[in-house]
Amino acid sequence: MSTVSVLKCTEYSNDILKQKILESLNNIDFDLSQFRGKRVVLKPNLLLPSKTERAIITHPEFFRAVAQIVKKNGGKPVLVESPAVHSLARTIQKTDYAEVVQTERIEVADPAVTETLLFEGSKSFKNFEISKAFFDADIIINLPKFKTHGLTYITGAVKNYFGAIPGLQKSKMHIKLPAPLDFTEFLLDLYGAMLKGFEKPKTILNLMDAIVAQEGEGPGTGGKPFPLNLIIAGQDAVAVDVAAVTAAGLDIEKAISIIEGFTRDFCIQSENQIKFKGDKIKKLIVTNFSPSKGTILSNMVRWPVTSKTFRNLFIDRPVPFEEKCTLCYQCREICPAGAISRQKSKGDKKVPVYNYKECIRCYCCMEICPEAAIQKTNGRLQWMLRL
Ligand code: SF4
Ligand code: SF4
Repeated sequence: MSTVSVLKCTEYSNDILKQKILESLNNIDFDLSQFRGKRVVLKPNLLLPSKTERAIITHPEFFRAVAQIVKKNGGKPVLVESPAVHSLARTIQKTDYAEVVQTERIEVADPAVTETLLFEGSKSFKNFEISKAFFDADIIINLPKFKTHGLTYITGAVKNYFGAIPGLQKSKMHIKLPAPLDFTEFLLDLYGAMLKGFEKPKTILNLMDAIVAQEGEGPGTGGKPFPLNLIIAGQDAVAVDVAAVTAAGLDIEKAISIIEGFTRDFCIQSENQIKFKGDKIKKLIVTNFSPSKGTILSNMVRWPVTSKTFRNLFIDRPVPFEEKCTLCYQCREICPAGAISRQKSKGDKKVPVYNYKECIRCYCCMEICPEAAIQKTNGRLQWMLRL
């Protein structure tokens, strides 16, 4: 059995957050004295520089409250994260994290300094080049934001560990693993490595910011804030994701990291193995949370998603719209397939040029676009699949 704490929380005020986070830690039987003299890595979601109210990043006040609890109990908090395209320093400067990091005197680890984590027990991937700060830590606290995701349905506790991999290396994983199932297997291998790969195992906690979550075309600028009003905590990331998906009224069968996670031996194998503590989850379930449009194909399908022709005709394509596009070309920078190029002639629409035959439908461009200028549009023959 794995214990998951679910607490109602409707605001980001410091006192309330600290009280609820302390209650969450107590619910999952974490003894605060474990922080004493320890180096505690805090891993928020800092996908891109964005305003806090867009609910793309873990709320800086949530991060502050956890950091204060760690400090008060004798630990040293260290911020570790690797944003998608921008440097961590720039991302911090351009968000409300700048003030938190300065006021709370938080050490920030350099995500470019990496070390290889080996995990022989993985299903597919055994080596992971991750930020060295994880090796130096005694305790890892994962601080995911709960959001919808165009490729993997949701991003929560399991997916947040992906930020351990430096910068653009992350988007390159999409080219190696274009099918959602393969990509998710990698995410679970990485999570398993975090649990079992270190010579001396680390204490790992997951504290999810689902107070204001994100619905719709998340996890970037295309998503919309949604007040789910929850703090979810647990030692098992898959179990924490189960709680979030349940509370959001989403379909667990579509959340591949959960379904695939159930097949691994380092986490729960079914929803029945969760012991809930805190507020009654059944009373907190919402009915108006919108998932990402996603693809019409089941996320569990491996073939023919990898076939170029099939993808081009049958799977939603990312389309940039002139009204919002500022031609910043961040989409081009992140595209792992090299499918985006600059306008070729003056007569072209004022948007980047997409080569849909090369596009692997990872939706990283949508995720990163600062203007929410890219939207999913049906593939040309997608109507046939609907029939
Ligand atoms: S689509 Fe978005 S990311 Fe791409 S150039 Fe336009 S504004 Fe920039
Ligand atoms: S164009 Fe967008 S969706 Fe297609 S491969 Fe590039 S980043 Fe991924």
